[in-house]
Amino acid sequence: MLIVQKYGGTSMGDPDRIRNVARRALLARKAGHDVVVVVSAMSGETNRLLKLTSEIARRPSQREQDVVVSTGEQVTVGLLALAIQELKGKSRSFLGHQVRILTDSAFANARIRSIDDTNLRASLRKKEIAVVAGFQGIDEQGSITTLGRGGSDTTAVALAAALKADACEIYTDVDGVYTTDPRICDRARKLDRVSYEEMLELASLGSKVLQIRSVEFAMKYKVPLWVKSSFTDDPGTLVTEEDKAMENVLVSGIAVTRDESRFVIRNVPDKPGIAARVFGALADADIVVDVIVQTPAHEDARTDMAFTVGRLDTEKTRELVRKIGKQIGAGKVEHEEGIAKVSIVGVGMRNHAGVAARMFQVLADEGVNIRVISTSEIKISCLIDEKYAELAVRALHTAFALDRTETKKG
Ligand code: ADP
Ligand code: ASP
Ligand code: MG
Repeated sequence: MLIVQKYGGTSMGDPDRIRNVARRALLARKAGHDVVVVVSAMSGETNRLLKLTSEIARRPSQREQDVVVSTGEQVTVGLLALAIQELKGKSRSFLGHQVRILTDSAFANARIRSIDDTNLRASLRKKEIAVVAGFQGIDEQGSITTLGRGGSDTTAVALAAALKADACEIYTDVDGVYTTDPRICDRARKLDRVSYEEMLELASLGSKVLQIRSVEFAMKYKVPLWVKSSFTDDPGTLVTEEDKAMENVLVSGIAVTRDESRFVIRNVPDKPGIAARVFGALADADIVVDVIVQTPAHEDARTDMAFTVGRLDTEKTRELVRKIGKQIGAGKVEHEEGIAKVSIVGVGMRNHAGVAARMFQVLADEGVNIRVISTSEIKISCLIDEKYAELAVRALHTAFALDRTETKKG
């Protein structure tokens, strides 16, 4: 078998932990598998490097910032290759450009275009454990790029797809994908299996255990994806294709994002081209808009348009929307910070009625006011006041029967 393993920042956090990773990779090698290991920088390192660049330049060039932040993974590939050699294993480290992980030129958020597997295959033929730097690639011009925060997950899954690996194992500091972030809810339960589609929704809606693009890759190329702990021998969670059993579960998981700001543009003329104008301008300014809701037109052919953006984009959005609001003859612009989005996700929703009503009732019973609702086939999201986020997650977790039954170990 060919196995791609990925170890995150906590798993690579200090020399002892790196030795632990080396032992695990060697176990797979000794079991007769070809092994490619993708690693993240030591935990905290990427943040430290980002802070350094911001101390030198208020608005650093993204190209140079990528040169700096990609170095965290250069350190860990070298250390892990050494640790494996110290244990008498064969190993070789690879940076993104040495594999040739070719990306576009969207610095800080680049997308992988292609992977040349020649060098990795040669290394595997020599029975080496190939240790590859996560998070980084190279563009057509030869500049170093990075794949966005959490991007090592995507490096691993993309390599697994390119090498047609039999499995991709993401080792982290929890032993699988849980019904909700175990740091928020101590009754969260580990899932044995979750569908690609549900995982994609959970990741997009705030469960940062896997980077969104890694799940997209896994789904597209049908890579069997395991999420496991590097500290235990628990089998973890398999992210895989949907099957009948998954549909019997109404809600598989709950995700939450905080730190959003909600905008409402009142009395927007209800005519073609207006939404395109507003959201086109926001897109041109590189502002990522999340939930968008437009009310049906009032009698005077005017509507209200509500949407959310990340807190950091609040000021920029406010200026821009005020300007455009005037140009299109809209009414006043309101905004509020401190908004959270709580979402329930499950493929079972497709065939079951009443899930939304149940969610709204649970929030009502807790006295939580819902600001905006948005739904898709397998998820329902509610915007609420951030201070109720954890309360809402816990109440929904219990109401949809996700709580663990046994008591927590350790
Ligand atoms: P790594 O450094 O290994 O990539 P991350 O911090 O990126 O690790 O991801 C693991 C973290 O994801 C966990 O510590 C956990 O707090 C968080 N998390 C959020 N949602 C979930 C979830 N549904 N299941 C498991 N972990 C989750
Ligand atoms: N080191 C990078 C980050 O902290 C990539 C990763 O860990 O996946 O975002
Ligand atoms: Mg991560």
